[in-house]
Amino acid sequence: MLFGELAKYYDRLEEVSSRLKMIDILTETFKKAGHEEIGYIIYITQGVLAPPFEGIEFGVADKLVEEAIAIATSYTKDEVEKAYKKSGDLGIVAKDLKASTKLKSLRNSRYTVEEVYNKMIEIARTGGEGSKAHKIKLLADMFANSAPDEVKYLARYPLGELRMGVGDATILEALSLAYTGSRAFKGELERAYNLCSDLSYVGVTLAKEGKEAIIGFKVTLFKPVRPALAERLPTANEILEKMGGRAAVEQKYDGFRLQVHKDGDRIQLYSRRLENTTGMFPDILEAVKREIPAKRIIFEGEAIAYNEVTGELFPFQETIQRKRKHDIEKKAEELPLHLFAFDVMYYEGKDYLNEPYEKRRELLEHVLEKSSTIRPTTRIITSSPKEMEGFFEKSIENGLEGIVAKDLNSRYIAGARKFSWIKMKRSYKGELTDTLDLVVVGYFLGRGSRAEFEFGGLLCATYNDKRDMFETITKLGTGFTEAQMAELKQTLDRIKIKSKPARVDSIITPDFWVTPKYVVVVKADEITKSPTHTCGMEKLPDGTEAGYALRFPRLVGDEAIRKDKSPEDATTTREVIEMFKQQKKVRIDDS
Ligand code: ATP
Repeated sequence: MLFGELAKYYDRLEEVSSRLKMIDILTETFKKAGHEEIGYIIYITQGVLAPPFEGIEFGVADKLVEEAIAIATSYTKDEVEKAYKKSGDLGIVAKDLKASTKLKSLRNSRYTVEEVYNKMIEIARTGGEGSKAHKIKLLADMFANSAPDEVKYLARYPLGELRMGVGDATILEALSLAYTGSRAFKGELERAYNLCSDLSYVGVTLAKEGKEAIIGFKVTLFKPVRPALAERLPTANEILEKMGGRAAVEQKYDGFRLQVHKDGDRIQLYSRRLENTTGMFPDILEAVKREIPAKRIIFEGEAIAYNEVTGELFPFQETIQRKRKHDIEKKAEELPLHLFAFDVMYYEGKDYLNEPYEKRRELLEHVLEKSSTIRPTTRIITSSPKEMEGFFEKSIENGLEGIVAKDLNSRYIAGARKFSWIKMKRSYKGELTDTLDLVVVGYFLGRGSRAEFEFGGLLCATYNDKRDMFETITKLGTGFTEAQMAELKQTLDRIKIKSKPARVDSIITPDFWVTPKYVVVVKADEITKSPTHTCGMEKLPDGTEAGYALRFPRLVGDEAIRKDKSPEDATTTREVIEMFKQQKKVRIDDS
């Protein structure tokens, strides 16, 4: 397929505002593409070169694209910059300047999709001295040899943002339709995606090997499994009820989630967001080498700084210092990390995901029999709410976050938040002190003293995983430092778009819409019913409609944007509804 053809499909995707139409267009695209091409098209549509764990980044900033546009169109850098300030979208700038350049301009496409992908890989791999100039040259060559409609996406792609609002769920549904003729296969495709975290790999497997290969999909070493997530409930009674009267209860450690893959001497560590973080944890790496006798294994746990002598667990803030890339070796000595392991997914060639929790735990304890830096989480098994409460209180006293209860019979449910794991934190036992992870879908300009920063606040949304849509829950105007405001403004400016993104459901119109991409952490006093927000919107008995909103929302945390979460990892609408119910229940219990 020529890239020009793909660009035409992208133009159509950009035009539509209904998700169903998006799926149709994408289905048509996949049907037109060759089997290998499917893989490239999926990555390009996701705005990436590879899945996160491969760590292949473009290493291209706005300025670099601006320079490439200037070279390819013979406009000056100032002219390009001015056009960018006006439209806020380098794709549009590239297209317009390419269309109006006096240089002999191409009208027809020349590159295939595969060629574009390979050139982008070349750009990403260009490193070392003089690499910036080389990247600019490669990009400018592509711009020069492509038609304006293509250049629009060629400029956007290396910035990691195609601005069409196509999410993974949309791609999965379109794959299902294109290759099986029905949406029904989406669940199987999702399962395969959850096991390997590489959507392109799933697409190519389906295209080349058919449905059977997807049905037989298994967990693979060095392709991280999308993590299982926990639901929340406020009381031990409710947790036990949900889990059939008996459950394992583990301490909840507030550190870094790590997934360990080991095949002989080859060991890799992956973060919650499936990035390869092996280089950040030399001490854990050594411990895996030293302490884990298994030849081939995938297991996961929470890494946290721990004082062996006093038994004291260090707060997250201290552990997070480890994130800073410098001084890693020194920090590893000062603040040695421990890995509290809580699950095992694969062992000596066998996939354990479908084994019950208790069997996986038995295996984990067996594997960790002789280890010390890596140890199983502390846990009890109980059918007594009182005992669970006691374990919870003790965990809090010891500086832990709370507990995670686990269904003894449940398999490992990759990539989903299910009641087979239920967390209980101190916060659920009173007012709404648990934070929400919300997706930024738009922002407002400042008024009064804020005008100076041209930033007045954010429009935030939850993720509705059933609809694959983002539904607004609050405007957020407080809790920002001036530095955070400036950072947010600059970051969001880069992804602002002219009209409401297709996957956003909103009654409110902000000053600027942005592509749903960034997650912020928000604290509020209460969840209330509101007619102005679309989160969980439903018809009330009196015929009016109401969704959920936040009372007194404020941004929390040192970092404005929560980098370890993608928009689809944000708090879901369903969770908000649950939190609303729990909040009501607590109030009734209190009274
Ligand atoms: P939170 O802010 O509560 O960590 P989250 O969205 O990051 O929320 P949740 O699914 O809500 O993740 O909570 C589970 C997280 O708790 C896991 O991702 C893991 O990092 C951490 N954790 C700590 N101890 C355990 C444990 N014993 N079992 C499972 N997860 C644990």
